[in-house]
Amino acid sequence: MGTEKFNIHNAHFLFGAPSMQAIRPQELPEIAVAGRSNVGKSTFINRIAGRKLARVSGTPGATRELNFYHLEGAFSGDKRDLCLVDMPGFGYAKLSHKEREAISRLAVRFLRDRQELQAVILLNDCRREPQADELAIQKVCAEEGVHCIIVLTKFDKLKQNEKMKRLKAVAQAYHLEKDDVLFTGEKISNDPLWARLQALLF
Ligand code: GDP
Repeated sequence: MGTEKFNIHNAHFLFGAPSMQAIRPQELPEIAVAGRSNVGKSTFINRIAGRKLARVSGTPGATRELNFYHLEGAFSGDKRDLCLVDMPGFGYAKLSHKEREAISRLAVRFLRDRQELQAVILLNDCRREPQADELAIQKVCAEEGVHCIIVLTKFDKLKQNEKMKRLKAVAQAYHLEKDDVLFTGEKISNDPLWARLQALLF
């Protein structure tokens, strides 16, 4: 099976939701993107959307809401739309304990209660082992029957001889095989990720 490209011809911001109650009804299949602040979430979202949707910054922790985007695209000529949800980055040290707790609670409620949610892309810096937050997201997804795709970011920063070692180590920490884990970074194609999403969503 060849990898097919998901061509996005339009993408726009729908709304931001600081609480579950603020989420507006919409009928698109949803994929959420989660990750520790500064993991490269904005960069990743802009890269998969093929345009600038999320703010990339040297100052992490900017997003405190669930931000919903409509991606209009096509696989092999068939029109396929989806909703991408940018989840607030967790673990931002400059936020108060209370603020971090609130972000965590919103994330868990969203993962548990959101019917439209089909898959979560959980970003993990390739140079770090997953910590309690990442493992908790993976666990909640498993409990709720939501697909959780682990994507290692900043993979371009690794030396060639470190890549396989890191893939194996991080996969093991998530109790996965190395081929289950995807990776992204400068000059690295996201086609394998789209192939995985296509199989799950459409
Ligand atoms: P966020 O806080 O998770 O949204 O992270 P950003 O997307 O704002 O990225 C944080 C920093 O990491 C920025 O300086 C980015 O340029 C850098 N960065 C993000 N993704 C990559 C990547 O795949 N490779 C490299 N080399 N740098 C990255």
